[in-house]
Amino acid sequence: MTKICSKCKEEKGLGEFYKNKSCKDGLQLHCKKCESFRKTAYSNKNIEYWKNHDPYKEKLVKKCSSCKKNLHSTYFYTNLSKKCGLGFACKECIKKYQYSHVKVMTEQDKEVRRKQCRQYYFEHREEINLMRKKYDLDHKEERRMYWKQQNRRKNPHLLTEIGIVYILQERGTGYYKIGKSKESEFKNRICHLQCGNPRKLILSFSGKIQDPSGVEHDLHYKYSQYNGHGEWFKLTPETVEEIITYLKTQETFTTSISDSPQPLKNGYFTPIPPLIPPLAFLTPLQV
Ligand SMILES: [Zn+2]
Ligand SMILES: [Zn+2]
Repeated sequence: MTKICSKCKEEKGLGEFYKNKSCKDGLQLHCKKCESFRKTAYSNKNIEYWKNHDPYKEKLVKKCSSCKKNLHSTYFYTNLSKKCGLGFACKECIKKYQYSHVKVMTEQDKEVRRKQCRQYYFEHREEINLMRKKYDLDHKEERRMYWKQQNRRKNPHLLTEIGIVYILQERGTGYYKIGKSKESEFKNRICHLQCGNPRKLILSFSGKIQDPSGVEHDLHYKYSQYNGHGEWFKLTPETVEEIITYLKTQETFTTSISDSPQPLKNGYFTPIPPLIPPLAFLTPLQV
């Protein structure tokens, strides 16, 4: 026995159709494959919609299909592939179901599991390490942005900090140092660097920049392929010109907060809005 699918018009065995009591032959008009396409398209459409909407705000009351209670939407988990954006059962019912089905692990079970994991790691060590390395390489930019975000969350004062970002040229070698320093320590820093270097150092650029650590970090990342050692980079004059042009757009001419604080009436300082560097500049160079 076969049946022709109403969507893809292919002739298929009856096993290829879902049951549907309301149809004449008790089977759906279209095949399982077409049904799965329909479902994916449906959930994608919903997911797209919920990107700009909040299901908790749009639907306030929903009936739980398990306990049949009418509850406020916050009693449900979100399910963005659904039209209403909420799961079918309330959080309580889902938790009850989960607890009744979870097998409680004893200490012994845990020890067995740990042993299995260790065993698996030893047997597939090289494979796993390669996978990790590949992941790190493929997600370099994301990892860097994540690291920067975490760092900024822990030290929010860095965003409004003002310091010097400078470019030092080592005469005759083509090496440049991209560095940052506190305004008050800048002169000392340059002297120290000159003392420890047999070649003459020339200051190509120095400017007051907001969030100097962030700007310095971005630059080190962007030109990492030219990195010699430490903060020294082998750069062409054109590249240096490019960096200076960028730094000039980032230069700030307000007085440093640490130098001369300007307390307002309520005792707080005026925060300086964070400068957002042009995105195109931050994309790493292709080798
Ligand atoms: Zn079909
Ligand atoms: Zn419920």
